Amino acid sequence: MPIYAYRCTQCGFEKDVMQKISDPLLTVCPECQSTSFAKQLTAPGFQLKGGGWYATDFKGGGNKPAEKPVTDSASAPPCQGGTAPCACN
Ligand SMILES: [Zn+2]
Repeated sequence: MPIYAYRCTQCGFEKDVMQKISDPLLTVCPECQSTSFAKQLTAPGFQLKGGGWYATDFKGGGNKPAEKPVTDSASAPPCQGGTAPCACN
């Protein structure tokens, strides 16, 4: 059963609560009875965020290969290698 770290933003009360994933989230602070009791960001949540970053990065990288051939042909024209046989020589 996963343990969730809860914290009350009202009074600062912190508690690790063991819950089933199907259990409803706690909202009422056992210390001050306010509804500021909230689950803290845990490691799995952080990893999920990282995955989102990776997905964004991957999309950006997908655009790069399309631009690369243009840059390569401009900076290095064909037939300049010398060692490789070329139809132009
Ligand atoms: Zn509280």
